[in-house]
Amino acid sequence: MRLRWWLLFLLLIIGSTAAGVWRGWIAVPPQWNPWAPLDVAAAPNVLTRYKLMRLRADAQLCDQALATSGLRVNRQADSPDATCPLLNTLRIQGGEVALSSSFLASCPLAVTFALFERHALQPAAQAIYGQAVARVDHLGSFACRNVYGRENARRSQHASADALDIAGFRLADGRTISVLKDWPGDNRDAQFLRQVRDGGCGLFSVVLSPDYNAAHHNHFHVDVGPWSVCR
Ligand SMILES: [Zn+2]
Repeated sequence: MRLRWWLLFLLLIIGSTAAGVWRGWIAVPPQWNPWAPLDVAAAPNVLTRYKLMRLRADAQLCDQALATSGLRVNRQADSPDATCPLLNTLRIQGGEVALSSSFLASCPLAVTFALFERHALQPAAQAIYGQAVARVDHLGSFACRNVYGRENARRSQHASADALDIAGFRLADGRTISVLKDWPGDNRDAQFLRQVRDGGCGLFSVVLSPDYNAAHHNHFHVDVGPWSVCR
């Protein structure tokens, strides 16, 4: 009985604190306020996934997060009636890092890519090469297809512009690092690629590298779908 009262008391405290934060009566730093817009510049924490999830349905929250991302984007017109409908989708032109070509992205993919670039990719490049990554080379994002293109499989995350295939990177000095050529080695390029893969795992929900299977021997598949895999 006593325990129950304590539990009730505890729930009351948690509930009123949450309500206070939500109404703005209790001031917490925005990165610790689940209802504050996501700031790409702030270090990711346990609330980041939740904040990314909220961007999917809320174009205004999405714009607020994008404004902190440094990404250059164009909004795509919604296509609700297409075989693979796209809503609240953006074309990413690049940002502080250039892209081999622009790509289509759901808002969570766009913002997660910006978080990845800032908090995983560039720190790994600085740590290993002492310079920045200037360009990300990719194999595409949106493709209206099932997983591995199989007829009886579930829809791929690529079909909703929630996935990107990253093939390699070009450093500021012009050197290129490729998943295909450099993953199998044991030099610092291979070390860099592993560090990038591991850093991506904390941000994307799925990161598949050549360690996953032969289909990924030449790229990292990253997505913001409902599953969680890091390999
Ligand atoms: Zn993929």
